[in-house]
Amino acid sequence: MSPSFEESRLTKLSAPRQVVVVGAGVVGLSCAWFLQEHGADVTVLDRSGVGAGASWGNAGYITPAMSAPLPEPALLREGVRSLLTPGSPVTVSGRVSAATLAFLAGFTRNSTGSRWRRGMAALAPLGLASIPAFDELVSGGVAAEVHKGTFRIGFAAGEDPAGLEHELTTARAAGQPVRYRYTTGHEPPFSSRIKQILHLEGQRFVAPGQLLDALAESVTKRGGEIVEGAQVRSVGFGPGGLQADTWTGSPYRADAVVLATGAWLPELARRLGVRVPVQAGRGYSCSVPLAEPINAPVYLPGARVALTPYGNRARVAGTMEIADRDAPFDRGRLDTVLRSIHPLIDGADWADVRDPWVGARPLTPDGLPLIGATKVEGVHVAGGHGMWGVTFGAVTGKLLARQIMSGVAVPELAPFDPLRTG
Ligand SMILES: Cc1cc2nc3c(=O)[nH]c(=O)nc-3n(C[C@H](O)[C@H](O)[C@H](O)COP(=O)(O)OP(=O)(O)OC[C@H]3O[C@@H](n4cnc5c(N)ncnc54)[C@H](O)[C@@H]3O)c2cc1C
Repeated sequence: MSPSFEESRLTKLSAPRQVVVVGAGVVGLSCAWFLQEHGADVTVLDRSGVGAGASWGNAGYITPAMSAPLPEPALLREGVRSLLTPGSPVTVSGRVSAATLAFLAGFTRNSTGSRWRRGMAALAPLGLASIPAFDELVSGGVAAEVHKGTFRIGFAAGEDPAGLEHELTTARAAGQPVRYRYTTGHEPPFSSRIKQILHLEGQRFVAPGQLLDALAESVTKRGGEIVEGAQVRSVGFGPGGLQADTWTGSPYRADAVVLATGAWLPELARRLGVRVPVQAGRGYSCSVPLAEPINAPVYLPGARVALTPYGNRARVAGTMEIADRDAPFDRGRLDTVLRSIHPLIDGADWADVRDPWVGARPLTPDGLPLIGATKVEGVHVAGGHGMWGVTFGAVTGKLLARQIMSGVAVPELAPFDPLRTG
């Protein structure tokens, strides 16, 4: 019997030796590390450097219990209203391109209860394996500091925790060890406006820059090469076989290639058959000192702002700006994020804001990542993780590396087929 299209996409180049990974964010570096676990020789190419994309200044939550697909009916209702309200947590800025319109149309189509439930079911196996995959990185020699701690999620008067609780109970029903409880007393750093606090156990958090440095160091120590300043312009077959062409220097020959270029994925992946639009959902962060430092993350769902311990300061991260992935940093947008939490957080020195940063979340219209083979033999995609690329970064690398190196389809990855219509 001849192999199915699915099988032939995977098996023709089984057990590759030399693998090129394009993109040195959390997803690309995790792929590189797990590919090495299977014995591959890995070269990672990044147009800038390690952590140049969304993976550096994010909130660092590893929260499989909270990692739901973004499109859902409530967000759609809020989204339409907020798109028209300057300063709200979700906005569309700048010129709206045809690609952005295609994304918004797909996002709207996917914002139904039944699609959300299907998405949750697809993400459930990744959620279960998310923290164990980080444990594997650490026990395998990655010097990442993956912290445990109780996440505190603060609700102001009139804010309803039912939506979040629904996510948590859905994750628990899928087998995740989700434990939470509520308190109502006043607790720093929350101001007295916060009336109810949900304490969530069993999740993890990292300083994402430290995680990336540790991953990069481990990949290099194990014989991998990380080439910074190497912008890939195309991937395909040349005279010597599969290769990644850069704007400078000679092509990089490979038996397999993984594209992990975050919000820039369409630039290389579109001509490889990946039609799902990947839209930048830009978020901002900075750090501020708190009178009483926090030792675990704090989240304000009403403002959609996250605080994470950052040395003796707190990193503040938030907002979702549907915009050009390369648009310049907008200080006004960061100030809007900070103003939105002034009344909710006590003891922050808002005059001492440091480390301003913007990053582009790679959003897909159905809220699911793109992980798997393209239509070009030996070329794979790992990206489109949207709000949850850190949470799902390690497990993505683990499962995709297994699929690439064994040539056997990993069933957990089936819903994330990059060639789906989205
Ligand atoms: C404010 C904010 C807070 C967030 N908080 C969290 C959180 O708490 N938990 C969580 O799980 N997720 C969080 N996220 C999401 C997370 O940051 C992303 O999902 C994740 O970083 C995506 O990783 P990536 O490796 O796919 O892409 P990126 O980190 O963007 O990496 C892509 C890399 O590809 C390189 N590249 C692009 N094009 C080319 C090319 N042609 N040639 C060579 N290199 C190229 C870029 O330079 C870049 O280094 C947050 C995001 C933001 C913005």
